[in-house]
Amino acid sequence: MRILHHLNPGFGQFRWVVLLLAVAVILPTVCLLWFMNEVVKNERIVVRQRLTTFYRNRLAEAYAKVNRQWADSCRQLERRPSLHPYRQFVSLTGQGGYQGFLAYDDAGRCLYPVVSTDPGTLARPSEDFRTVWEMEFINHQYERAAELYEEQARISDDHGRLAAYIGKSRCLAKLGRLDQAIAECRLRAAFSPIAETGDSRSLALIARARLLLLGWMQNKATPNAKDRTGGFRPDPSYASLYEETFRKLLAMLYSANGAGFALPADENLFLARKVLEIGQATGLLDKNADLLRGTSLPTLMEVEERSIRCAEQFQSVDLFREWQDDTLQPLALGESVLYGVIHRTTRGSCIALLGRDNIMAAVAEYVGTFEDANVDFRILEEGGRFVAGIETTSREPCAAGPLGRYFPGWTVQLFFKGGDVFERAASEHVAVYTWTGVLFILLILVSGAVAAQSIGRQVQLNKLKNDFIATVTHELKTPLASMRVLVDTLLEGNYRNPNQVTEYLQLISRENERLSRLIDNFLTFSRMERNKQAFQMCPVSPVSIARTAAEAVKTKLGRGHCCFETEIPDELPTIRADHDAMVTVLVNLLDNAYKYSSEDKCIRLSAGAADGAVCFTVRDNGLGIPRRALKRIFRRFYQVDRSLSRRTEGCGLGLSIAKFIVDAHQGTIAVESKPGQGSTFTVRIPVAP
Ligand code: ADP
Repeated sequence: MRILHHLNPGFGQFRWVVLLLAVAVILPTVCLLWFMNEVVKNERIVVRQRLTTFYRNRLAEAYAKVNRQWADSCRQLERRPSLHPYRQFVSLTGQGGYQGFLAYDDAGRCLYPVVSTDPGTLARPSEDFRTVWEMEFINHQYERAAELYEEQARISDDHGRLAAYIGKSRCLAKLGRLDQAIAECRLRAAFSPIAETGDSRSLALIARARLLLLGWMQNKATPNAKDRTGGFRPDPSYASLYEETFRKLLAMLYSANGAGFALPADENLFLARKVLEIGQATGLLDKNADLLRGTSLPTLMEVEERSIRCAEQFQSVDLFREWQDDTLQPLALGESVLYGVIHRTTRGSCIALLGRDNIMAAVAEYVGTFEDANVDFRILEEGGRFVAGIETTSREPCAAGPLGRYFPGWTVQLFFKGGDVFERAASEHVAVYTWTGVLFILLILVSGAVAAQSIGRQVQLNKLKNDFIATVTHELKTPLASMRVLVDTLLEGNYRNPNQVTEYLQLISRENERLSRLIDNFLTFSRMERNKQAFQMCPVSPVSIARTAAEAVKTKLGRGHCCFETEIPDELPTIRADHDAMVTVLVNLLDNAYKYSSEDKCIRLSAGAADGAVCFTVRDNGLGIPRRALKRIFRRFYQVDRSLSRRTEGCGLGLSIAKFIVDAHQGTIAVESKPGQGSTFTVRIPVAP
């Protein structure tokens, strides 16, 4: 049984440990790894779905937002009767960036752009002026015409009077009396107070008068009117009047007077062109830019021209009847394609013209909400024409929806930028799962290791118990059996003489002694295993320990061919130790030296002090210990040669007990040995402080 245990120590239990590990650790770990792999795969699909839903919701939010924003921006198209259309025109062109503007009153009459071809707005020569006009333009009798104009002025209304004074000034200029013409025109027409109260027709005349005035002041500087190389340079004596006239003319453009009248749109546009020409050449436009309320004259002119063209095309507001309020309508205006928006209130309607750029600027904030790291966008108008975003793509849109309810047929498409979007979005979750998985696996492994260790310890304990029982039974059986045989022999009187009795009794005594030693060892071992061995540590002399040990084995080692020597000095430093326990250590070593030596034994016990420790050395010339067994001899129940132990009466506990005692004294035990040449055991115990 001992042999079986030696060959196959606790194999059955270990098999269970392995099985347990497989079931409790490997299986859950493999399952977890598989699960994690599946999770990581699914995560990408889940992330794609989640992102798609996310962007769909974002589209819906943006749809509501763009509707709100657009409705808000269309509110500036509200018709306000207190505000002249020109004011609205300037602010829409400047701030709103609109490309055109039309205004109608509640009865559908066009308020802007009103052109002078409309009945009642054109400054045509009336019948009263026919004679004087003929005199001036056909007969070229300027002197006479000037007199007639003067007479006409006296009998005419405001408008007629203005026309008459302009005519008179013109005639004076034609007569070469420029200074007189300038003074007359300035006083009676160009600077007339009618500018503040007059209607559109009067305003047109005043504006023309101002333009004439500017021309005459230039002509004075450059008599050859065709020679423009000198630019629009007024006569120095008229410099301030020139500037004032320019300023007054500029102020008339795109604005209404105190009575709410403004120039007709075409007249305004014509004058604007002239003003731009003069203003750019003289630098007066930049100087008086404040009069344009933050806009630029060329832009205003461009928008006005477009507005006039649009009004010509759609002659009545009725033609916009189909249009829904605030809703974008494609509008072909000549070559260009624009969009129109109508905003109706009870006070009238306004129509604004927009280009794609205007629309994109209006929804820029909305578009910005999509421009993130994950998606590209594309905006298409009705009919699938590209408007903004990425122009071409082979990708399928991940989400698409209408741009807003005021943009019929306009759609927004969103495209994921690429596979790595999901990778990136998923990786965060995957990292969390992976770390959780790794922690879980670690936990399983740690618990597995703890379980394996505790089971292993249990298995070892079992093995130890079995070994112990087997050894104890076996070791006790031998001395008891031999004692029984001897006692039986004596009881039966099977002895020859009293000497034999004495010999038998001596044998019984030796067996008894051996039995006691065995039991002592077992008890020490048992206490040791249960950690119950208590040592009485006190300062003791190593000399006393060595001498007591030598005394104890003297009789045994003195027998036969055994030479036992001691080398114990009289003085050695004191050590803190349990005296009896240390004696046990040395007796065990000396006993082994005796047991594992052949015929001519030579055993030597020496003691000495070195490096703050006391050394006890037991040397023999015995069998020696093989190299591979050197490390194991201090283990419990370990024996190098079990067949030999039978003869030597050992049980493999002596050295493990010795090591246990030495360790408890914070000392060391070491062995040097060569097979066939003997062994040297050295015990070092630190000197007491
Ligand atoms: P045992 O009771 O068997 O002697 P020990 O624990 O004292 O047990 O010794 C363990 C083993 O070490 C022994 O079986 C023996 O093989 C070997 N051993 C111990 N001391 C010596 C020695 N001085 N010379 C040779 N072998 C030794």
